[in-house]
Amino acid sequence: MIDCYIALGSNLEQPLLQVNEALHQIDAMTHSKLICSSSWYRSKAIGPGKQPDYINGVCKLSTELKPLNLLQALQNIEQQQGRTRSQRWAARTLDLDILLYGNQIINLPELEIPHPRMQQRNFVLYPLYEISGELTLPDQHSLQALLEHCTQTGLEKLS
Ligand code: ATP
Ligand code: CA
Ligand code: CA
Repeated sequence: MIDCYIALGSNLEQPLLQVNEALHQIDAMTHSKLICSSSWYRSKAIGPGKQPDYINGVCKLSTELKPLNLLQALQNIEQQQGRTRSQRWAARTLDLDILLYGNQIINLPELEIPHPRMQQRNFVLYPLYEISGELTLPDQHSLQALLEHCTQTGLEKLS
């Protein structure tokens, strides 16, 4: 079993319901066990045009699925919840990104781990810190050090 971290996000069709349903589906995934999840956070959209705010969070999963099978399983959940793909970073009902897969570094066209943009994203780093404050990335950067360079601007933790 390998410990993985998944980022959840939604900014369409009742985002809070979407991310809670996704967490439920992740918990039900075969060959995997949901370990814990962060609080939910509200964040400003970074995508094109004017978009609704996002709800974001992170969960920790212990899995026997290989990385590409895990990606497939997560994309199935996105599909089930009505994800459509148009423009890059367009609004969506559900986005599930693999942040970390154990200590592995993966550079495939369809799968890059660690997620290449996680280090700049406060809506990823803050919830990740909440559930795994002691984490060190495969490049040896500590999560703590990354957070020191990451403001909380536009990010609100929900109670
Ligand atoms: P971003 O990656 O900047 O957060 P996004 O989540 O909006 O953008 P998507 O349209 O959801 O991007 O995904 C585009 C492709 O990214 C997916 O089809 C998938 O193959 C690929 N991808 C690469 N690395 C990862 C990863 N670590 N987790 C999920 N998808 C990934
Ligand atoms: Ca994403
Ligand atoms: Ca994605």
